[in-house]
Amino acid sequence: MKFAVLDFETTGSQTTDRIIQVGLVIIVDDTITDRYTSLVNPGISIPSSIISLTGIDDDMVSDAPELETVMAHMVPLLQDCVLVGHQIAFDLAFLQRALDEHGYFSFDGKVLDTIEALRVLFPSLSSFQLSLVCQAFGIEHERPHQADSDAEVTALIWIRCLMRFQQLSLLTLQRLSMVFDEVTTDFGWFVREMITFKEMFPGEDVQTGQNYRQFSLAVKDWGEEDPPREDKDVLAMPDDFASFYAQLKLALKERFKDYEDREAQETMLAEVETAFEQERHLMIEAGTGTGKSLGYLIPALYYGLKHDKKMLVSTHTINLQEQIRERDIPLLMDLFPIGFRAAVFKGRSHYLCLRKFEHKMGQQDFEYGKEDRLTAGQMLVWLSETEHGDDEELHFSGKGSQFWHTVASDTDSCLNRACPWFKKCFYHRARNNASTADLVITNHSMLFTDTKAESRLLPSYKHLVIDEAHHFEEVASKHLGIEVAYGAFVGALWWLYKDSRTGQLPTLSLRLSKADNDKGLAWSKAIDTLLPGLLHLKEEWDELTDLLYQLVASRSDPTQSESGQLVYRLKSENKPGQWDKLLVLEENMYLKSSEILKKLDRLLSEVKDQQEVLDVAGLVTDISGSVKELYRQRDNLHFFMALADPNYVYWLEAGSNKSKSLQLISVPLDVSPMLQEHFFEAKASVIMTSATLSVGKSFDYTCEQLGLDTTAPDTKVKTVQLQSPFNYRQQALVAIPRDFPSIRGNSGEKHFLAELAQSLAEVAVETMGRMLVLFTSNRMLKLTHAALKEKLSPFGIGVLGQGVDSSNRSKLTRLFQNNSASVLLGTSSFWEGVDIPGDALTCLAIVRLPFQPPNHPLVEAKMENLKKLNLNPFMKLSVPQAVIRFKQGFGRLVRTTKDKGIVIIYDTRVIDTSYGKYFLYSLPGPKIEHMPTTQLVGRIKQWMGESEI
Ligand code: SF4
Repeated sequence: MKFAVLDFETTGSQTTDRIIQVGLVIIVDDTITDRYTSLVNPGISIPSSIISLTGIDDDMVSDAPELETVMAHMVPLLQDCVLVGHQIAFDLAFLQRALDEHGYFSFDGKVLDTIEALRVLFPSLSSFQLSLVCQAFGIEHERPHQADSDAEVTALIWIRCLMRFQQLSLLTLQRLSMVFDEVTTDFGWFVREMITFKEMFPGEDVQTGQNYRQFSLAVKDWGEEDPPREDKDVLAMPDDFASFYAQLKLALKERFKDYEDREAQETMLAEVETAFEQERHLMIEAGTGTGKSLGYLIPALYYGLKHDKKMLVSTHTINLQEQIRERDIPLLMDLFPIGFRAAVFKGRSHYLCLRKFEHKMGQQDFEYGKEDRLTAGQMLVWLSETEHGDDEELHFSGKGSQFWHTVASDTDSCLNRACPWFKKCFYHRARNNASTADLVITNHSMLFTDTKAESRLLPSYKHLVIDEAHHFEEVASKHLGIEVAYGAFVGALWWLYKDSRTGQLPTLSLRLSKADNDKGLAWSKAIDTLLPGLLHLKEEWDELTDLLYQLVASRSDPTQSESGQLVYRLKSENKPGQWDKLLVLEENMYLKSSEILKKLDRLLSEVKDQQEVLDVAGLVTDISGSVKELYRQRDNLHFFMALADPNYVYWLEAGSNKSKSLQLISVPLDVSPMLQEHFFEAKASVIMTSATLSVGKSFDYTCEQLGLDTTAPDTKVKTVQLQSPFNYRQQALVAIPRDFPSIRGNSGEKHFLAELAQSLAEVAVETMGRMLVLFTSNRMLKLTHAALKEKLSPFGIGVLGQGVDSSNRSKLTRLFQNNSASVLLGTSSFWEGVDIPGDALTCLAIVRLPFQPPNHPLVEAKMENLKKLNLNPFMKLSVPQAVIRFKQGFGRLVRTTKDKGIVIIYDTRVIDTSYGKYFLYSLPGPKIEHMPTTQLVGRIKQWMGESEI
């Protein structure tokens, strides 16, 4: 087969725009056989934005051939080719116009898009941007946004796609062909061609895994595995941890030739092990570079194996969980003298339900058309690769997450042992692995889901390590709170009944009506009588949502909230006037839904008796799940509207102009009693660790948040702050421009932003980019982005902004690292978890101290509560919260012993106020200086020029 890979550079994307460069690469089978490229004289001036994107200017094209000449070269090459391109619709439109203008027939061959192919064939690929795909595939992309270079790399990517196609089993291809129609889609046609090829050459069919129920799978049956060790192995382990660790260290030194003892890590190992031995809780702050995860994994495994105890480790982020799974556990499995088992166990909705997916494929139920088909195709290929069935291995685009939601595992609709997929089930496998593992790695959300499910999900445990513990309280609030979202309520209804064709109930009704059985017919009729009630419920929910939205829209000012959301807090002692009317509406919904759900319950229990005969077992289970979900939604709504629990904070939240984005949120004001009950009183030993637990060298704030009392004589809690392994005094300079303007006053912000852009630009020129700027406000970020871009473009320094150039943190970080002369502006998620070691980051700028907005309902309620207790809410809550975030931000700068850099704090409150010292005193010992803004650049130059560390 012959492919023509095409790329155009143009003066823009409108129909009046012109082609300025052509890149064409011809592939025969899977080899590049020909290339054609040319600049094109467009006959019009090239806009400056295109010049800066492509590097092609008017001078370069002034002597280039006109399009007519170029087309005369191109058209013969396109003969009998399948046209391929990266986002080909754009190039195809220009091609068709060019053909038409110069008297050629339109291109009527097949057209394939590499983005579509990549989505399906490489399900884990995290970005489809051409240069990032090249990076993932190790393809050198010499000149991005130049047609010859873009066409060349697209051709190489397409060859990778062809190779991947060939690796797929015939069964996967046949499944794909059921998803992509060969008549209406060229992708479907190509899948068919691949099937024909495989059928003609059966030897080419690579069986990567096994076939089960007409699916090609990588996963095998789960079940009993050989024990990882014998009892005598455990007995042979040294009885004291110090001797054990001395042995392990020898193995580490043998493995890593440049291994160096880290004092802080050794202290941590000993503290953690002692805490387990003495059955105490430990709060231990360990900064970057400590080797924190090994600092707790080694003693946890030693203690667990020696005493035959199950050990749990919980993280907040997926990144850390993956790092433990991919890096630390394999290392320890190699080094430990005896075998052990470790398992990752996440929340149930992370695992694919194979039964639901099979059903979906059978029904060809694709609500979002092409989007859903692409996701289904992606998952079919993924099934031939995955052993975990975990959604985090997949990169979803568009509506992919919604599709996942329809096929994710869940308790209510699980057939358990009666399921034909049970022995391959990803969730049950993960659960079984967790129950037999010595060490279980999970996440904070899962810990709380387990407590809510009365400890029925996680295996029983008494020893727990909580990493990233500074998030523990906040995750507890979120999970122990109750939330009703407009979409989730509607989703629960639509699962059951959307219209006469879609939904579980019409499907069941149809199946029952076809049963050769009087009862079936009667049940089918009974279902039909319930359907109007469900529709009516949806109308009432719409009405209630509209009224609640009007309420939040009339009482809230989106400019006051950082996210631009409408937020309105509700208080039981001060309900809005119209609340009673809303309550009547909700009461009605409650009664009607109860009636329908009860009838459905009764009906389902009758049908259940004959579900096997009628072959509707799966459907009945799914409907029972949806019914339970609707009960939950009904109860949550009822709880919210009553505003009755004084321990909860209630608020409404919505996007401006979008009533359908309404959320009703209720969160416990204080989660510490529950943390006490389920963790600190129930567990023998809980280790809490993070790089940011203390404020001004004290753990009081974090202990109070978690309800821990370190001062009681019989306290079980010990706190330890480890020395950082970095020499911060030589590695980091904190510079505070002491005359920097304040943001206060009428024109304060405008003046502040102008000075900020000016100062950042001067510093960025000195450091040649390599600068991360942390904001607390999206709006300020956007305004600074525009101003800074203008100032830095003459110096060839790029500016990347979160929410401007992309919202994807990893993508922005990668772009920043790949382009050393750039400045990255980030908010929220950039304050922590971003790891940019080495020269790529030299300067970190903190724009304003990261105080939480005091008008957020939960913060406001907590402050009120502190006031009631005669405590100062600013000092007790706002300052410590901000200090912890500030420390997180500061931690972005120095990631290894070789890093050296500057932190600039554009907020004079840090030196002008009495609380400012808490921020500076909490840092791990950098050099701190303040100076007039005019001396900033000179000092930076001097500091960076000082002797190497
Ligand atoms: S056992 Fe349950 S979760 Fe697993 S595939 Fe079957 S129904 Fe889905």
